[in-house]
Amino acid sequence: MARYTGPVCRLCRREGQKLYLKGDKCFTDKCPVARRNYAPGQHGQSRKKLSNYGVQLREKQKVRRYYGISESQMRKYFEAADKKVGITGENLLKILESRLDNVIFRLGLADSRAEARQLVTHGHFKINGKKVDIPSYLTSVGETIEVKEGSKSSVRFKEHQEGFQGNVVPWLQMDIENMIGKIISEPSREDIDLPIQEHLIVELYSK
Ligand code: SF4
Repeated sequence: MARYTGPVCRLCRREGQKLYLKGDKCFTDKCPVARRNYAPGQHGQSRKKLSNYGVQLREKQKVRRYYGISESQMRKYFEAADKKVGITGENLLKILESRLDNVIFRLGLADSRAEARQLVTHGHFKINGKKVDIPSYLTSVGETIEVKEGSKSSVRFKEHQEGFQGNVVPWLQMDIENMIGKIISEPSREDIDLPIQEHLIVELYSK
């Protein structure tokens, strides 16, 4: 399935909640969810009660939208999570969190996962000293993620450096001076601050 390229605020309105896909705008009163909290389209204001399947489907779609991934990627991650030891839903979220685009966002080097994805594909990062330009690259504990020397002086990275508030998630470490991040552990479920009921996704894919 092709990647959605339409207006992203429409996705939040479809899910009936903020998905924080647009960086700073999400925290202002310009956010369309704050102004028009109903689904987009002609019938958006006539909400129907969802079936169990509908609830599970919406939860899965919400997670896909948070991380900006396609249905086939989501299913692939689910299959990988299912094969791992532990709770499948938590495994799934941990895999999603380890994507390089998410890590860049969590390190404070991008305002949104979409911006992080673009920065990665433009080749601004090195992992353990080697250039990586694949947003879906799955990072591992111990790896360092560094802004390439030639990119450090760009306006975008300077802005992120100046705006850095030092509050990266507990499983990451950030040396903002040198623009080098490190994965110090796997994220725990408590570290993933998104309002996700992952068991609904497991139920959906287990049918
Ligand atoms: Fe979603 Fe952000 Fe757009 Fe609000 S501004 S609808 S939170 S993407």
